[in-house]
Amino acid sequence: MPNDDLFKKVIAHAKEYGFIFQSSEVYDGLSAVYDYGQNGAELKNNIKDYWWKSMVQYHENIVGIDAAIFMHPAVWKASGHVDAFNDPLIDNKDSKKRYRADVLVEDHCAKIEGKIEKEVKKAAKRFGDKFDEKQFITTNPRVVGYNEKIGEIKDSLYKAMDNEDLPAIKQLIEDLEIVCPISGTRNWTDVRQFNLMFATQLGSTAEGASTIYLRPETAQGIFVNYLNVQKTSRMKLPFGIAQIGKAFRNEIVARQFIFRMREFEQMEMQFFVRPGTEKEWFEYWKEERMKWHFNMGIPGDQYRLYEHEKLAHYANAAFDVEFNFPIGFKELEGIHSRTNFDLSAHQEHSGRKIQYFDPETKESYVPFVVETSIGLDRTFLAVLSYAYQEEKLEDGSERTVMRIPPFLAPIKVAVFPLVNKDGLPDKSKEIMDTLKYDFMCHYEEKDSIGKRYRRHDAIGTPYCITVDHQTLEDNTVTIRERDSMKQDRVAIDQIPEVVKEKLRMPR
Ligand code: ATP
Repeated sequence: MPNDDLFKKVIAHAKEYGFIFQSSEVYDGLSAVYDYGQNGAELKNNIKDYWWKSMVQYHENIVGIDAAIFMHPAVWKASGHVDAFNDPLIDNKDSKKRYRADVLVEDHCAKIEGKIEKEVKKAAKRFGDKFDEKQFITTNPRVVGYNEKIGEIKDSLYKAMDNEDLPAIKQLIEDLEIVCPISGTRNWTDVRQFNLMFATQLGSTAEGASTIYLRPETAQGIFVNYLNVQKTSRMKLPFGIAQIGKAFRNEIVARQFIFRMREFEQMEMQFFVRPGTEKEWFEYWKEERMKWHFNMGIPGDQYRLYEHEKLAHYANAAFDVEFNFPIGFKELEGIHSRTNFDLSAHQEHSGRKIQYFDPETKESYVPFVVETSIGLDRTFLAVLSYAYQEEKLEDGSERTVMRIPPFLAPIKVAVFPLVNKDGLPDKSKEIMDTLKYDFMCHYEEKDSIGKRYRRHDAIGTPYCITVDHQTLEDNTVTIRERDSMKQDRVAIDQIPEVVKEKLRMPR
């Protein structure tokens, strides 16, 4: 269920503590574009590092590349983006708000799903331990009716989308009596197609300039480099190419903070396999990717897996990893079996042979591809919104703590002198100097120790070290752990050992 209150708090917290700022805020901001602040940039880099290490370093058969954002315009013709990377848009004439027509219909379905959820909860309460949810869903007439209705609506929507039948989408919105959430009216314009790619001009003179696009996905940079990488790395199938980079989409509706941005980052991996083995690899990557998510320490009930009913024309299986964002369960990652669609299209459009000679079968073929595609910013939002907690403490006070998985935390260790005199700042800086080459550290001497703890709770620092007068006598400090708030006295030379274990990246 969406939690607007939590969402507002997370957004405000992200700004107040230097995680995320609206782009160009001094000029009142640029819609759906965001900047990462001092703590946000660290957290984002740590997520990237976790993904890169898990995919590239820990898999001997995956290599990473960094392709340019600008690509030859023919790439986007071949990939289908010029002709088909469209969303159907619709405006409400009263509120003047613009919507994605398919999302209006899907939100309507989500409301019916909400009704099903309510029925299930009511019945679970009524039947107690004897409740069989599966049986209830398949036999309760009201729930069966709701599910049939959702099925009918989605069938009509997907059919209309496949046929690019825009009047049929409009008709569906009218038949379902969908109203604008702002004006509450049904005064809609016609549905129009809108291409999501940003175009710009390459070249200095108007005559010589050609239209190029900011890439709407990173995947094509991998496909067009398939031959280069395969040849220079001498990789044998199956092998993967991974990439992290910016992508740009002129999203119609972008009012969901960093969930839907116009400039964002993707972490994608294309895994090239022998045709006929793609289903096996699809299953393998489903499992691998879920392990990656669960290893972060976020509980499994925050994730939901969604098998696509409507497949893109090039895909033979597709599956979304959805996360329980404050705006509800929404797509975080896509795992797709893309057949040989992209490589074949580039082979055809470029006139180059893009094939693999299989030394085992002695055949040449265009490899099939299983891709994993995750949004870096959406992963950031997942971590941030899950981590945000307001806690009542035993002494009656409150704290806001970001329970960010320790290995991802922006600052790993904060070092405080208890007081700002008696040589404690010098001793603290000495300790900083021994730790800072291995851990991201932060030194603070302003305000009371309590306030400094709260500040670091709010950015998710797993360990705070306090240097006091005893330190000068016996070279020990107190280490305070973020989640338990437990404080232990340890010798300075033991600090790396004590903190290392919890900060280690999962494997
Ligand atoms: P959606 O249905 O939410 O628009 P999509 O299916 O178009 O997403 P893909 O093209 O599969 O998304 O892109 C792969 C991943 O990139 C998504 O799972 C998501 O995490 C991320 N992503 C896509 N569009 C955006 C965006 N506008 N802002 C932030 N992340 C995005």
